[in-house]
Amino acid sequence: MTKEEEDILLKEGKMLPVMEHFYTLQGEGAHTGKAAYFIRLGGCDVGCHWCDVKESWDPNLHPLMNAEEIAETAAKHCKTIVLTGGEPLMWNLDILTSKLKELGCIVHIETSGAYPMSGQIDWITLSPKKTGLPKEEIYAKAHELKMIIFNNNDFKFAQEQAAKVSENCTLYLQSEWSKRDEMYPKITDFILENPEWRASVQTHKYLNIP
Ligand code: SF4
Repeated sequence: MTKEEEDILLKEGKMLPVMEHFYTLQGEGAHTGKAAYFIRLGGCDVGCHWCDVKESWDPNLHPLMNAEEIAETAAKHCKTIVLTGGEPLMWNLDILTSKLKELGCIVHIETSGAYPMSGQIDWITLSPKKTGLPKEEIYAKAHELKMIIFNNNDFKFAQEQAAKVSENCTLYLQSEWSKRDEMYPKITDFILENPEWRASVQTHKYLNIP
């Protein structure tokens, strides 16, 4: 296939760059502990310096897969599907998500919101980043806001972002993993002062699962 032909299939959402896909437990946020099939798409240009999946950034390193075939593989395992990345909204998710819905799945997405929405999504985890702010349209649609706390300034950024989501959106603070010993005591104090927030912990890392 030529590069031009690949670009057309990507644009149409028929093919997607898949870094990995696996069946595990959701480790973070409101659905913690739930069995879920993760589809991690390659590609992200948001550039968080503390990113723990930098291998995802270059989409050219990840094989293009047929969107309907990934959906069929995922739906054989369970009906909760998590689209993550990288930044999954870099891609046209229409075909992948409509096939997942046809197969009876509930589709979750974990996104920075830096790209326009596509696809049929049931649960949006919005995790805004300073280096690539969300598109305005996504704030009102987010079901949970997950703010990563790397340093003290991130509490202010978290509050600014929380002011933009709907009142039904659940607010989470989650320490960047390498800063957890330093930041969880501060997160705890912050939540005691601001009880509209909740703490999210990367439980999958404690369970040694993907
Ligand atoms: Fe990494 Fe996510 Fe930031 Fe992209 S948005 S650089 S995948 S943490």
